[in-house]
Amino acid sequence: MPTRHALVADALRALLLSMFLISAAEGQAPRTILAIGGHAGDMELTAGAVLLGAHQRGDRVVILHLTLGEGGNPKLSPAEYGAQKKREAEAVASALGADVLFGPYRDGEIPNDEAARRYVADVMRQVKPTLVITHWKESLHKDHSITSAVVQDAVLLASLPGVTLAHPAWRGIRSVWYADNWEDATNFAPYVFVKVTDALSAWRAAVSQYEFARGGIAGFPYVEYYSALATVRGAVVYKGQAVAFAVEPEARRRVLDSLP
Ligand SMILES: [Zn+2]
Repeated sequence: MPTRHALVADALRALLLSMFLISAAEGQAPRTILAIGGHAGDMELTAGAVLLGAHQRGDRVVILHLTLGEGGNPKLSPAEYGAQKKREAEAVASALGADVLFGPYRDGEIPNDEAARRYVADVMRQVKPTLVITHWKESLHKDHSITSAVVQDAVLLASLPGVTLAHPAWRGIRSVWYADNWEDATNFAPYVFVKVTDALSAWRAAVSQYEFARGGIAGFPYVEYYSALATVRGAVVYKGQAVAFAVEPEARRRVLDSLP
């Protein structure tokens, strides 16, 4: 006879799976996912395994790096390290099956202004995503928190026909998910969990092409950290390895016509 503890664990598991887990969607139409990060490497490390899984399922994946993150190498000039980061970003995107775009901004200098919102909105209009992934809003890095704010406002601008940009309005963005980044951890609450077990080893090989991700520049073991985090997030939803995302508080809502 199962113990009370086991019964509680089973009930909890069923609840979690029914509420929070996005399973591989068999037979769904391909979609377009746009991941927008402050620095080359942010989106691939935090969400890359999900992006790779989406690509393998037939979705289109586009990554926009607002900056190269070229200021982070004390041994190289920003120009030298920026050239390296661009090469690495292209190789990583290719390995993840993603198209890659580079914003016009410099590391540490993403402007929190209307022009940046219009720039990102026009990329959204061009790419036509249904899902946008970006940074959580509270971060120790101002490029990350500004990216989050810019992206959130750009979703609205992209949708408004009265806002004149190079491309026509795009109203198809159904969700904005915030990535689980160790630098953006303040008040980050995991809400959506995506299983990534099948994509994890290919993701590790892809992101290891960034020198900094291997721990070779700042000393932070990025690949090891995010690999371990996938195990932690997967454990609590009983799905092997998973990647978690936060959503806006007002998006944490289930609407039912009747009791399930
Ligand atoms: Zn960053």
